[in-house]
Amino acid sequence: MKSDYEAVIGLEVHVQLKTQTKAFCGCSTSFASSPNMNTCPICLGHPGALPVLNKNIVEYALLLGLATGCSIRPYSVFSRKNYFYPDLPKGYQVSQYEDPICFNGEIEIESENTKKRIGITRIHMEEDAGKSIHDIDIDTLVDLNRSGVPLLEIVSEPDIRSGQEAYQYLMQIRQIVMYLGVCDGNMEEGSLRCDANISVRKRGAEKFGTRTEVKNLNSFRNVERAIGYEIERQVELIESGGYVVQQSMQWDASIHETKVMRSKEKAHDYRYFPEPDLVGVNVNEEWLRKVQLMLPELPQARKARFIYDFGLPAYDAGILIEEKSLGDYFENVVSKLAVKSKDRYKLVSNWIMTEVMRVLSERKIAAAEFVVEPAFIAEIVDLISSETISNKTAKEVFAEMLISNKAPKSIVNEKGLSQVSDVIFIESTINSILKENVENVEKYRSGKNNLFGYFVSQVLKNTGGKANPKIVTEVLKRMLEN
Ligand code: ADP
Ligand code: MG
Ligand code: ZN
Repeated sequence: MKSDYEAVIGLEVHVQLKTQTKAFCGCSTSFASSPNMNTCPICLGHPGALPVLNKNIVEYALLLGLATGCSIRPYSVFSRKNYFYPDLPKGYQVSQYEDPICFNGEIEIESENTKKRIGITRIHMEEDAGKSIHDIDIDTLVDLNRSGVPLLEIVSEPDIRSGQEAYQYLMQIRQIVMYLGVCDGNMEEGSLRCDANISVRKRGAEKFGTRTEVKNLNSFRNVERAIGYEIERQVELIESGGYVVQQSMQWDASIHETKVMRSKEKAHDYRYFPEPDLVGVNVNEEWLRKVQLMLPELPQARKARFIYDFGLPAYDAGILIEEKSLGDYFENVVSKLAVKSKDRYKLVSNWIMTEVMRVLSERKIAAAEFVVEPAFIAEIVDLISSETISNKTAKEVFAEMLISNKAPKSIVNEKGLSQVSDVIFIESTINSILKENVENVEKYRSGKNNLFGYFVSQVLKNTGGKANPKIVTEVLKRMLEN
């Protein structure tokens, strides 16, 4: 972007709630069902069918509102947002308009090592529409399984200034909703969807520029890319004497470009009016207090605790807290360590970030589904720290453990993998190696220092890789120099 321009971005994020049943009827929200199986007169919009609000949705909205520092409205109502579309059988979407249940909150992001607060304008409850399926030869098909599935919409203030900040903000939302257990966070399956409102202005200008809205971004990467593209496009347009038209755009991920969808409808086109079939939502102090007590430790607080309590680098802590179950796994391993020390905590972190996470991604599973008991990872770390096994042996033990699910100690014993730290034994091994390599010893002593590695490798070879490398180095130095 030309540096005399600044981007202004506000996001509307739709969070699909992890309830068993839909927002206003008893139909299942299961993602796996065949098309149109999870439907009933209410979510099909049959005349005369009456909706009843699923109480869990309010509780989820309150959890998210409290977690993001929002004010909670004691009384709020639903409204009808009227528009026509084949996947909207009622001809309107039940949503909240003027008085959303949560408002005035914030989310803290970290971008380029500085912390920044992004304001939350509002969080409101609404229902999802069905799905039109266009990519089948015969015709366009409509699947109404998603019709009436509950959503929370989180609208941000126009506080975001780059694609990268938008990415960080979305990451925070994803972590928070997953920690709260209100959403599975699966962007590919559409559990999180994002519309990005983007404008540019000359640096220092007070007035916002005209915005475009890129609809339905379904991956973190696409959000960042679409915003980057749209900023460039708007700046170029203005620089070449044109002006931005307020309109809805679509991101085409295959050619990395935004294109026009339709020019922006005005709010009054939706003819919002209060939903007459649903009663208002009352949230009293008692309910709010109950929900407050249900709030778990949130990701950023956990990150701070990992840094403070376990002495982890911020980088490690950030990775470990990203998925709740991974953070839980880390804490479980740590609690099983024979000796509690910062060195060992860091070693646990290393093992999880490399070996464990590699297996998780190979198997495409979350830490919650990882079968290796946390106590076994603790045992490996203890064995390394007490110098019973080397790092290299530990990796073999880990690989073996993945197959047999046996405890590391028994693998070490059965296979005789214990590291040899016996100085007398190591000395005698070195002694015979030096005798067999008289010429090389001479060369070394006359200045060919790089032969040292050769001797180390001979000792390791002779001991089946089990000699403690630290002791080998010490003893070798001493014996070669004499
Ligand atoms: P609508 O309902 O028409 O989409 P809203 O007023 O609810 O409009 O705003 C939607 C989003 O657009 C909010 O996240 C807001 O921060 C953002 N926004 C508003 N004005 C601008 C602007 N000029 N540039 C970028 N984002 C904006
Ligand atoms: Mg909008
Ligand atoms: Zn239904």
